[in-house]
Amino acid sequence: MDTKLLVLEDFKRTGQISEADQAKIAEAAGILRNGGLVAFPTETVYGLGGDARLKEASRRIYEAKGRPSDNPLIVHISDISQLDAVASDISDAARIMADKYWPGPLTMVFKKTDLIPYETTGGLDTVAVRYPVHPVAKALIAASGAYIAAPSANISGRPSTTAAAHCIEDLSGRIEAIVDGGDCEIGLESTILDVSGDNLQLLRPGAVTSEMIEETLGISLSEDAALKGPLAEGVRPKAPGMKYRHYAPKAEMILVDGSDPVKKAEGIYKLAMEKTAAGKCTALLCSDECISDLVRLDPDIKNKLSIKSTGSREDEAETAHKLFELLREMDAEGIEFIAAEGYDEAEIGKALMNRMKKAAAWQIIHT
Ligand code: AMP
Ligand code: MG
Repeated sequence: MDTKLLVLEDFKRTGQISEADQAKIAEAAGILRNGGLVAFPTETVYGLGGDARLKEASRRIYEAKGRPSDNPLIVHISDISQLDAVASDISDAARIMADKYWPGPLTMVFKKTDLIPYETTGGLDTVAVRYPVHPVAKALIAASGAYIAAPSANISGRPSTTAAAHCIEDLSGRIEAIVDGGDCEIGLESTILDVSGDNLQLLRPGAVTSEMIEETLGISLSEDAALKGPLAEGVRPKAPGMKYRHYAPKAEMILVDGSDPVKKAEGIYKLAMEKTAAGKCTALLCSDECISDLVRLDPDIKNKLSIKSTGSREDEAETAHKLFELLREMDAEGIEFIAAEGYDEAEIGKALMNRMKKAAAWQIIHT
């Protein structure tokens, strides 16, 4: 299959959807209406979209991603009035969250209606719904006249895609079209909040932080067991996707964490040197501040190792924005081992460290 690349030139330059861009969005919407698959930008990561009402479209999404069919898809809407068609038993708390954070990087899990087939929900009676704020995502969903099932537009298990080039790398030849609307601003997947039961549960941390949810609703939030560490054999997480290896670079990755930045840099250096001595092509993934500490330890370090900067450690939004792109860059360079700095887990740092811990298969050294 030829995958058509639809580049929104004007939107990428100005942030405004021009008539020429809108014509390309209409073309992509036509593909969706005919049951085809289209990758498109959102504020979190690129989504791989298909009509959520069509069993065959959902089946093809799983096939294109190589995703296990019990890992449900998120259904995207472009107007709050679409919610009642896909979700039932919507609680007051869910309405409050929708009022405050939609459109935006928040997904909520509800009881599903009959409109959404089990093929889309991975066999569950619940459906995950998101109303994205990205102008291209909104325009595409609206023009399709549909509800768009869209998991992240990557091959299952690989880092999520945050630019059209990543979608081309993973999905070219597997889907009908890719809409290029530039880089995704947040760079990490949406927060997932389960509002289908009596107790609200955080299933995946994201840019809508647990602090924001707790403050908005005046509650203290419980978290799925899968957020705290690797799941024991036989334990079934609430979000089925949590049991699968995720966000993973091809390289083995170990996180080095600790409150003393100098000790942390020493730990990263020691680990990287051990792996290099063992013959592994090794890279460092760390903040500018950590790189300065590393250069003080070994002025020649930049000639010995590939070093990827995540920006200042004070700017966790920027670090989050860069993470998946850097993991893909290291894959492309044939890196075999990554020694990565651990970051503070407050606010968006919690979502960032959640993805990093999974990418590292929960291997963490505390300095
Ligand atoms: P992705 O679309 O690749 O970002 O992954 C979607 C995530 O949403 C997966 O981890 C799913 O397990 C989760 N999810 C989707 N639908 C549901 C649902 N009905 N209940 C719980 N988790 C869900
Ligand atoms: Mg995903």
